Amino acid sequence: MEILTSQLPSGGYGYTFPSVSISPMTFMEICDYLENVPSDPLDKYLYDIKVLCNEDSKIMDCYVMDVDFLIFYKKLCTISGDLSYNLSITCPDCGTVIKKKISLDKDIHFKQIDPKIMDGAIIELGGEKFETFVPRIRDFLKVFEKYLVYRKVEDIGLIKTIALIKEFEREGNLVEEKVLGATHEDITLLLALKDLYYDRVENINVLCPECSKNQERRKLVAVSVDSLIVDFFRELCNNSPINATKILFK
Ligand SMILES: [Zn+2]
Repeated sequence: MEILTSQLPSGGYGYTFPSVSISPMTFMEICDYLENVPSDPLDKYLYDIKVLCNEDSKIMDCYVMDVDFLIFYKKLCTISGDLSYNLSITCPDCGTVIKKKISLDKDIHFKQIDPKIMDGAIIELGGEKFETFVPRIRDFLKVFEKYLVYRKVEDIGLIKTIALIKEFEREGNLVEEKVLGATHEDITLLLALKDLYYDRVENINVLCPECSKNQERRKLVAVSVDSLIVDFFRELCNNSPINATKILFK
């Protein structure tokens, strides 16, 4: 399947190609995936990126924000032919298991991107000025590979934040020191940047029927797309039930 870059979280800003290929995994590919996917979150993220790159090398030129969505999309189209997903979450307040069918068209929204932010910015961090840019996968991997080797930082969000700063390539230690040692408003700045350049998919709000029984308050539980990816394949059979015509016993 071809996904138009204009339909990605970045809106396709700055891309020289109109689409990328993403196909549902076959049974063999799922078995292979489940057998080989690393459990360590950093290795798993790299593995997911490689799975996409194997199908379409243009992934290397896609922004990280778009690839995060495409990782989700590939799993969604694998488990569901109509791009819907049966969600099952536990209400943090009352423990009720809430089931809801969500669909890509209706329930998954991107925060609107402002093309102005795609050209990067000048930021002040720890008293020094730095330039930010929106990393594509090939830029991100240069940063990521360092952390995969040295394991100084184990948090993907933090590594992605470091990757936003252009000077990392020349002055890696300085940038790392400024990000990891950030205090007060510098922390706010870094969180805002991370939100701006990565977390482009809005949380899905699901109503808890138990907590909302007394009409005084409607209790909404927010579900992030990231959290959905984790258990995706376990949900495969849930999401693709077979009907009576599929098996006819003799
Ligand atoms: Zn509840």
